Amino acid sequence: MAPKPDPQCALCRMDSRACISKEGKGPSFCPTLHRAEDAERALKKYQDPETKDFAKAASLQEAECYAERDAQHHVLKPTKTRVEEIIEFSKRMGYKRIGVAFCGGLFSEAHTFARILEKNGLEPVSVCCKVGGVPKEFLGLEDKDKIRIGAYETMCNPIAQAEVLNEAQTDFNVLIGLCVGHDSLFFKHAKALTTVLVTKDRVLGHNPVAALYGVKVYFQRLLKP
Ligand code: SF4
Repeated sequence: MAPKPDPQCALCRMDSRACISKEGKGPSFCPTLHRAEDAERALKKYQDPETKDFAKAASLQEAECYAERDAQHHVLKPTKTRVEEIIEFSKRMGYKRIGVAFCGGLFSEAHTFARILEKNGLEPVSVCCKVGGVPKEFLGLEDKDKIRIGAYETMCNPIAQAEVLNEAQTDFNVLIGLCVGHDSLFFKHAKALTTVLVTKDRVLGHNPVAALYGVKVYFQRLLKP
């Protein structure tokens, strides 16, 4: 049997999509139509009560980020910032202790966020990426591999961030600006589930989607590597 094509939802150009509407259609690479067994396996995972509660709360939160949802000719009216969304979601889940794993380049933003959490009755527990103060040589890096070549530099230590927050028994974690890859290790090693408040983009003010918006003109280099 020929292998199924890889799922390519990002390339889907259906007017009415199988994943959105009961009468919708999908192309040959559509995972809704051609990978039903994967979705079946996923649905079994939602049977775990903790997972189901979490997923339900996330969907309730999603809906409540819009106003006038019962209007007859509904247009989307988003009303909540992601900071507000995180606070509301945490309360909805009954979470109290919120781990904040942040990048040292965003100390001030992490400080502000921790204050906001506190003002909203939550208990922030925060840990910087440089925790442990381990020199980069530990990873086998040399002077030439550092940001400031020749300087003393400590490594980002996302596994230690996760360990510190695991020990602090956080209910939920929020990530602020960890680097690509450091974030991945944090996700893997943190016990509590994690959401992201800030996605690091050193050039675009932590707004990486701006490169995609601008791809036709100022960021066309991305399509012409
Ligand atoms: S699931 Fe199918 S219909 Fe939905 S976006 Fe993907 S390819 Fe298109």
